[in-house]
Amino acid sequence: MVKAVVVGSVALDSIRTPFGEVHEALGGSASYAGYASSFFSKTGIVGVVGSDFPKKHLDLFKRKGIDLSGLSFADGKTFRWHGYYEFDLNQAHTVKTELNVFEEFQPVLPDSYRKAKFLFLGNIGPELQLNVLGQMASRPKLVVADTMNYWIEKSRETVLEVVKAVDIMLFNDAEARQLFRTPSIVKAARMALALDSDYAIIKKGEHGALMFTPKSHFSAPAYPLENIVDPTGAGDCFGGAMTGYLAKTGSLTEKNLRKAIIFGSAVASLDAEGFSLENLKKISLKDIEARVQEFKEIVHF
Ligand code: AMP
Repeated sequence: MVKAVVVGSVALDSIRTPFGEVHEALGGSASYAGYASSFFSKTGIVGVVGSDFPKKHLDLFKRKGIDLSGLSFADGKTFRWHGYYEFDLNQAHTVKTELNVFEEFQPVLPDSYRKAKFLFLGNIGPELQLNVLGQMASRPKLVVADTMNYWIEKSRETVLEVVKAVDIMLFNDAEARQLFRTPSIVKAARMALALDSDYAIIKKGEHGALMFTPKSHFSAPAYPLENIVDPTGAGDCFGGAMTGYLAKTGSLTEKNLRKAIIFGSAVASLDAEGFSLENLKKISLKDIEARVQEFKEIVHF
């Protein structure tokens, strides 16, 4: 039984960082978030791939126990993203985005997904995010969403509707400023909360993450990564792992949300230690728990 549903892009990424490059490697928000969520809970992916999508990637998802009945196969080319990073790894530079089969994609949720209580609307067009939410049999217990500058520039009003419709909106600091047109991330978070979001979480890359509620705020540290190779997907891993952890534990208290943020940060840091999903493939829940323990030690005083 699928506990967490993850929607987003399934991509072939070509990426250059100061530490190397990959050509057409497995990527996409749903790939990262779905994989990260599946460390904790049975996860199903909603997305689309083209006829050129390598079978070995499907095999990887299946080996991890990810449900693929929500993945569509279309004639045409898989979504492609081409980007690079300079020494400031917080800043991804997009060279090219080819939506390909995503341009015409009309998701249809399998019945087995519609009753899931946890939904992660990963980075993809905001219309698609709303469409998927509308297909759930009843309002899930928790809906988390993520977005990026590409969609804020293209469809700002619809992104604001997504903020309104979900419980937790994730932004990185630049996206929060851009969407709410303010230089202050605290003001941006307040504006997200005013739009009926219960929590606003601002990811600050290598500087950690902040969670705002109407009454409090929580600051999660960043893991001091020495061997960072490629930060692509770290934000998706953060959101996916957080959602999977909450689906596993079931509690939505602020205390448990704080824990979920640390689990999300642990998986994000492990993702950044390799290109594509290479490092995630090598790790188990034990490695994640060990990193969570290190997080605990970092902030204890
Ligand atoms: P992140 O580093 O967490 O922001 O996510 C990077 C992933 O997002 C890459 O694997 C890309 O394939 C995917 N991506 C890039 N641009 C877009 C877009 N416009 N819509 C959906 N996914 C995207």
